[in-house]
Amino acid sequence: MHLERRVLVTGGAGFIGSHLCEQLLDAGCDVLCVDNFFTGSRRNIEHLLTHPRFELMRHDVTFPLYVEVDEIYNLACPASPIHYQRDPVQTTKTSVHGAINMLGLAKRVQAKILQASTSEVYGDPEVHPQEESYWGHVNPIGLRSCYDEGKRCAETLFFDYWRQHRLRIKVARIFNTYGPRMHPNDGRVISNFVVQALLERDITIYGNGDQTRSFCYVDDLVDGLMRLMATKDDVTGPINMGNPDEYTILELAKVIIDTSGSRSRIVHRPLPEDDPRQRQPDIRRARENLGWQPRVPLKEGLVRVIAYFEDLLRQQSVRDSLAGNASG
Ligand code: NAD
Ligand code: UDP
Repeated sequence: MHLERRVLVTGGAGFIGSHLCEQLLDAGCDVLCVDNFFTGSRRNIEHLLTHPRFELMRHDVTFPLYVEVDEIYNLACPASPIHYQRDPVQTTKTSVHGAINMLGLAKRVQAKILQASTSEVYGDPEVHPQEESYWGHVNPIGLRSCYDEGKRCAETLFFDYWRQHRLRIKVARIFNTYGPRMHPNDGRVISNFVVQALLERDITIYGNGDQTRSFCYVDDLVDGLMRLMATKDDVTGPINMGNPDEYTILELAKVIIDTSGSRSRIVHRPLPEDDPRQRQPDIRRARENLGWQPRVPLKEGLVRVIAYFEDLLRQQSVRDSLAGNASG
């Protein structure tokens, strides 16, 4: 008889997924990590491969999956604009077909299922801070739409499976998250700025830098996801998960320069299409339903991320892969 909780993490070899796999193992679960390595890597989970309760499966969630599990965390999806815009049709397929396949699996084995949704469902928000009742302001035909609309459709599927098939669902709307194992080359603002600062290259601010974001450290986020999964069946979400401390991108650049002791200069580049002007989660629901709130302040999290990238950049192959790209 099987006593441990068997947990499937799709996208488990990615940035957030690898931290989640670690925490689930620490909590005593059996973990099945499924990933097609589109943006994730074996390096992120190498240290888990010999763990007796960890299993890795190479699989694309746009195809059906037949496994026996008790809980599913559905994280599979490229998350940075550079990556999700590289093959936008595949991005939408991953969100939509991936959700259908994982919901079908959850239905067959009666598993609880959590969707890693995103603040992007609010688009370029006209309401500030964003609370879950806000329906969003999303361009359906722009460059970010493959990601935003794919994630919105996935939420629709989750709630229809809940209404129609009484599936136990949990939907987390994740705001910008950062931490060790972010991809050095994926163009997200924290990895870009930290790499640029450490290599003493120019810090590239898109636009004038007065757009805002709120950054959550990955350990806080993973704690929130696991708390959400553990809630009673009537808690479906959607629940915002992020750190309400809001910074302009210019402020962020200055904090990273200060914290890393870099001599990099700030330069300005054109603002990408549909770049949201401001973003800050209203986390009252998470506080009330999960007793959750972020604990790691930005400066403390940045110290850990800077140490991680310092270490990574000692590898010549990583430095070579960064030569001449957007980080330069
Ligand atoms: P990531 O790119 O590091 O991880 C995504 C993982 O999914 C990768 O390992 C990738 O290889 C895998 N993947 C992609 N397509 C797949 C497919 N078709 N089949 C199987 N695996 C596939 O990104 P992340 O930052 O760790 O994000 C994880 C999840 O959280 C994503 O669903 C993302 O949309 C969501 N999210 C992240 C953030 C953030 O700030 N990092 C914010 C909001 C939402
Ligand atoms: N950004 C920037 N310079 C960079 C990378 C990003 O100024 O080198 C800006 C980007 O235009 C956006 C913000 O930082 O306004 C956050 O970008 P990211 O891609 O990390 O996340 P998202 O836009 O998806 O929230």
